[in-house]
Amino acid sequence: MATEAKSGGYLACRLSPGEREALAGRLFPHSEVTPAGYEAIYPPRALPPGAMVTRLGPSPTGFVHLGNLYGALADERLAHQSGGVFILRVEDTDEKREVPGAVELLIDALAYFGLRFDEGETAQGDKGDYGPYRQRRRAAIYQAIAKYLVERGRAYPCFCTEAELAALRERQAAAGENPGYYGSWAAHRDLPLTEINERLERGEPFVIRLRSLGEPDRAFTLSDGIRGRLTMPENRQDFVLLKADGIPTYHFAHVVDDHFMRVTHILRGEEWLATLPYHWELFQALDWRPPVFCHTAVLMKMEDGVKRKLSKRKDPELGLDYYRQLGYHPAAARAYLLTVLNSHYEEWRLANPLAPLEDFPFTTAKMGSSGALFDLDKLRNVSKDTFAAMTAGEAADFLLAWAGQWEPGTGAVLAAERAYLEAVLNIGRGGDNPRKDLIYGRQILDFISFFFDPWFGAGGDWLAALPERLPPGETAAVLLEEYAAGWDFAEDRQVWFGKVRELGERWGFAARPKDYQKNPTQYKGHVGDVSGLLRAALTGRRDSPDLWEIQRVMGEKRCRSRLAAAAARLRQGPEQA
Ligand code: GLU
Repeated sequence: MATEAKSGGYLACRLSPGEREALAGRLFPHSEVTPAGYEAIYPPRALPPGAMVTRLGPSPTGFVHLGNLYGALADERLAHQSGGVFILRVEDTDEKREVPGAVELLIDALAYFGLRFDEGETAQGDKGDYGPYRQRRRAAIYQAIAKYLVERGRAYPCFCTEAELAALRERQAAAGENPGYYGSWAAHRDLPLTEINERLERGEPFVIRLRSLGEPDRAFTLSDGIRGRLTMPENRQDFVLLKADGIPTYHFAHVVDDHFMRVTHILRGEEWLATLPYHWELFQALDWRPPVFCHTAVLMKMEDGVKRKLSKRKDPELGLDYYRQLGYHPAAARAYLLTVLNSHYEEWRLANPLAPLEDFPFTTAKMGSSGALFDLDKLRNVSKDTFAAMTAGEAADFLLAWAGQWEPGTGAVLAAERAYLEAVLNIGRGGDNPRKDLIYGRQILDFISFFFDPWFGAGGDWLAALPERLPPGETAAVLLEEYAAGWDFAEDRQVWFGKVRELGERWGFAARPKDYQKNPTQYKGHVGDVSGLLRAALTGRRDSPDLWEIQRVMGEKRCRSRLAAAAARLRQGPEQA
């Protein structure tokens, strides 16, 4: 704890040690445990050397955003790859913003992305020896430390009203001085004890402020885990530690909590850099060793060639729900976020294509310090790779679980045809150049829906998928009927394609697009039109994976019935379309 000489607090404070003690006792009559007592309750952790203790400190506002996941993934990696501890601490000091169920929501959202806490708040309450893990339940600890600071002459009650503070700001503006409560502007910094007592007697509301000993022309230096060496001017603001209702400010709560939870690395947004001198002074005032601060870059996106901050109002992709509802695979989200978090992740991935993500040596030193660029297109590419690297069975498991939650009706249809679903998802899988067209749950459902009779042709007129040179009518109908008559389900791809070509030639379609291009008047079209017709009849689409493979997967019966239905419809011509 701070010594008199070290803090200088006694010298600067006009109250005698006895007066300070009396004041502290009066301000915090119920605070009995001393800081030393809390040191014993929360002893240094017995962890292997190098183990990191990290925490996520979300406010329970009900909105779980990408920034939470981004920070959480970094915290989780640091803790778990070093044999340390990952804590969930709920920062619920702002009661007005709290939404019921927000903590469960957060835990659930992060669990979906594979992030699990070792310690902290859980749906069933506290887990761990360093709690409570909700700040509102830690009031006694904050009071004890505030009391200690008052005793040491490093904190004092301030009775200034809002109006007085506003007048102060005006005077400072008029004098061209920096705003704030500091130095000679700090009117209640040195109130005599008698006046303090009178005001307390009258029941005047008060806050507890730090008595800053900082000098603006003095600087301190620290090493940020991400930004490296930082030199900043000392704090001189007598900032608020406890508000009038006894609730701590972020500045005070974070210092007290991170100390007593024995956090070794604080990962937080760069918006906290500006007040880092506050936190630094508090650690010094308490003679506590500060953890390693790691200030992360804000998440940005590119819009019309300009980088801007992701915004809750404008960007649905800022909410984590967005990814779950759409059915992004958690592994894809994790892998993608690692590419944003650590500049050498992609290189590592190329060199270690099969290694589990947990093997990647994550480090704060490789985190960028300016604007982390979030790019949905890139996430989609990582997702495609993720699905391409899975087995069809794994992809089916994921899809069924996701659909079961978000599209239960669809999920039930798929679950009833599990083997078929797997065969569908297996198309183009494996080999050196696997297909990469599966991105996320909703997109996959859409992409594969035509395989399933209940959705085939749904939501659109398949006639629109017909090639222009084969509109609805007799020719198209006859082509389909002749195709069906000559088709042998067992034939291989070459034989099959040879037959499609011959069929087209018989009806005046060039065997190769090239021939048609050279002599368009000589043909009705080319073989691509014929396969386009088959594709429209079988899939209802203009584009699809390989048609021969699709037929193999759909099975003979389903194909024949679709071909027959299509021919019948085409014979009716376009007018009834
Ligand atoms: N509750 C703070 C926030 O939401 C946490 C900051 C920190 O991690 O220290 O920004």
